[in-house]
Amino acid sequence: MKNLLTMRQNNIPFKNAILLLLLIGNIFGVNSQSATFYSNPNYLKMLYRDSSYMNLKKKVTSEFVHSQPGHWGEFVKGVDEDFSTRQKYIAFTFDACGGPKRNGYDSELINFLQQEKIPATLFITGKWIDANFNTFLNLSKDTLFEIENHGLNHQPCALDGESEYGIHGTKNAAQAFDEIEANARKIEALTHHRPRYYRSATAFIDEAGARLASKLGITTVSFQVLSGDAVPFTPDTIIEESVLQNIRPGAIVIMHFNHPEWNTYEAMQKIVPKLRKMGYHFVRLEHFKLISEKQR
Ligand SMILES: [Zn+2]
Repeated sequence: MKNLLTMRQNNIPFKNAILLLLLIGNIFGVNSQSATFYSNPNYLKMLYRDSSYMNLKKKVTSEFVHSQPGHWGEFVKGVDEDFSTRQKYIAFTFDACGGPKRNGYDSELINFLQQEKIPATLFITGKWIDANFNTFLNLSKDTLFEIENHGLNHQPCALDGESEYGIHGTKNAAQAFDEIEANARKIEALTHHRPRYYRSATAFIDEAGARLASKLGITTVSFQVLSGDAVPFTPDTIIEESVLQNIRPGAIVIMHFNHPEWNTYEAMQKIVPKLRKMGYHFVRLEHFKLISEKQR
């Protein structure tokens, strides 16, 4: 036995294999621990014990005690949908909504963006992170992508529980605060980058919600070009048409990367070469000042 041990200890490939196993075990161990720690319910519990979070929540929500929600929509006051540029630049934005039937990952689409070196802004919820923890960490390490905030639980941001597409919004300022700020902190803790931008679930929000986000230093973003990828069974040719017919410099295009069964990837394969031919370049939102040109 002693001889066997001595032999194994002096066996370099054997030692390396053990080290590799320990390393792999450690990585997965740490990640599964982190995934539990950062899961929405646990992370929110932790934030509720954090005085900096609770003091800010009290301060911000107290300003909305007597506020009316104001208009509800995708383009209400306080929401931006373009960015300022004179060049032929456009920004592709892809949402990952999260929750039952919304936790998928369109790896073909992401691989395509990576192969074609197309910068993109990804709006991600806390729920989607919980269901795709390691994938999220990998995406956040890719400098091609900018990670932004799509809310903690994918609840449209409302002061009065307004809903859209059958998805119930937050019921009051306290819930709206958690939806925006808790996910901003979660993303910052995991990526070391605090999101600057927030897109409400469904892109619908009330005016008070947009004001609340701005008090947190966060800009609410809607979209200029609706690709239509989220309408079930939309063919790639229709998505292509929606984008190409409405594109213009400074446009923010909305799509999704959490539904591999949708035709987003198939449409992007057609859209990208055509836009390039038209002279367009693709950018992330982080480099630009956002604006709003729609009528309020
Ligand atoms: Zn969404």
